[in-house]
Amino acid sequence: MGKGPGRRPEPRPEGRGRPSAGPAEAVPALVGHEDALPTVYLKPGEADRVVGGHPWIYEGALLRVVREPEDGGVVQVKDHRRRLLGVGFYNARSRIRVRVLAWDRVELDEAFFERRLRQALEHRLRHLPGATSYRWVNAEGDLLSGLIVDRYEDVLVVQMSSAGMEKRKAMLVRLLEKLGRPRAIVERNDMTARRFEGLEEASGVLVGAMTEAERRAWPVRVNGLQFEADLVGGHKTGLYLDQQVNQALVAAWAKGAEVLDAFSFQGGFALAAARAGAKSVLGLDQSAEAVAVAERMAAANGLEALCSFRAVNVFDWMREAAASGSEGARPEPRFDLIVLDPPSFTRNRASVPDALRGYKEIHLRALRLLRPGGLLATFCCSHHVDAGTFEGTILEAAYDARRQLRRVAAFGQAADHPVLPAVPESEYLKGFLYELLSP
Ligand code: SAH
Repeated sequence: MGKGPGRRPEPRPEGRGRPSAGPAEAVPALVGHEDALPTVYLKPGEADRVVGGHPWIYEGALLRVVREPEDGGVVQVKDHRRRLLGVGFYNARSRIRVRVLAWDRVELDEAFFERRLRQALEHRLRHLPGATSYRWVNAEGDLLSGLIVDRYEDVLVVQMSSAGMEKRKAMLVRLLEKLGRPRAIVERNDMTARRFEGLEEASGVLVGAMTEAERRAWPVRVNGLQFEADLVGGHKTGLYLDQQVNQALVAAWAKGAEVLDAFSFQGGFALAAARAGAKSVLGLDQSAEAVAVAERMAAANGLEALCSFRAVNVFDWMREAAASGSEGARPEPRFDLIVLDPPSFTRNRASVPDALRGYKEIHLRALRLLRPGGLLATFCCSHHVDAGTFEGTILEAAYDARRQLRRVAAFGQAADHPVLPAVPESEYLKGFLYELLSP
C-alpha cells in the first residue's frame, strides 16, 4: 500500500527548529516551479510556529503576498529571509489565510493527496484494527487541514472546511472511492465553520445511491454493538466515534454494577456496560430523539432488560436525585459506576469560567449518588479546558462533597482523532476514572 514500506512520515525540513536553506536543490525536478508559485512571506517571528508543525497561518502573520492566488489556490510559504517553510492552500476570505499541508517543497497534486489519505488509513488499521466505523481523516491530525472523512461501515461522510479542499472535492471523492471502495459517499458540508471560509452549506449524496431514510438511520457497529448514524442531521457527522475506545475501556469496570450513563446520546457507554455484565443501566439525555434511538438500540442489541433511558436535563435530574434524602439528609447513593460525558460547555475562552461551574456542579451531584468504592468515569470534550483544569474542578467538587478520590485511569480521544502536540487545537477530549474512597 502506498509508497515504500508505508507508515513513513511525510518528509519534514531537517531539524524542525531550523528551516533548510536550499530545498530547491533537493528536488531538481521542481526547479523553476518555485518561481511560478504564488508566495506568502511571513513577518519576522512568525516562522517558528509553522516550522514547529502548526498548519494555520493567520492574516496578521503575513508580511506580503506575491502573485496573490485565487481562494483555495496553492501558495508556498517563506519566512522574511525567503527561506521556504512549506506549501499550502490560500484563502483571502478566511482569518486563517494559509493552511499548510506539507513542510517541504512538494506538489499538492492528486498523488500527494493519495499518499496522505493512505497514510491516514494505515494509522487507523494499525491502531483501531477491529473497527468498522471510524474517522478516516481528522483534518490537522492527519496533516490535511480542512478535511474530515468518517467511515460508517461501507459509507463515507466527507466535510470540507477550507476553500482549498472544497475546490478539490471531485478529486478527493475520486481518491476516496479508489482507496475505500465505499458503497456511497455523503457530503455533510452543513457546518457553520464553512461561513468563515466564504463557503456555502451543502449536503447530499455525492457517489452511489442512498435513500433519505437510509441516510437518517444508517446501521453502524461500534465495539460490536449496533447503533444508527444519522448522516443527514445527526451530531458531528452522525455519531461520537471519538469515544469508541473509552466506551470499551469503561465497560470493563461495569460487571455487576448499577450504572448511570449521564449524557448518554444513543447509549454508547450504557450499552457497552450492559453487555459487559452490568446489573442495571440508566441512561440520561435531554434529547428525546436520542433517548428513542437509545431505547431502540438497547432492544436491537438484546439488552433492553438491563437498560432504561430517560429524556431529562442531567442538571435538573441530578439536583432532584441528590436532594431526595429526607429532611436534608444525604441521599442514598445508589450507583456503582457513573459516566459523565457532557457536551462541550465552552465555545471560546471567555465562557470557560461558566463551563467550570457547570462541570463542578455535575461532579458534586454525581459524587453524592456514587457508593463508596464506586467509580466515576468523567470526560471533558472542550479544547479550552485542559486536563489539569478539568481535574482541578473535579477536586473542588470532591472538596465540597467532603470526599476523596483515587485516580484509577486517564483517557484521551481514540486514535482516529489523532493528537499532534504541535497543534494544541487537535486535542480536546480528556477523561479520568476515579474511585470514590470510603469516608
Ligand atoms: N456519551 C455519548 C456522547 C454524548 S454527547 C456517546 O458516548 O456516544 C453529549 C450529549 O449530551 C448529547 O446527546 C446531548 O443531547 C446531551 N445533552 C446536552 N446537554 C444536556 C443536558 N443538560 N442534560 C442532558 N443531556 C444533555
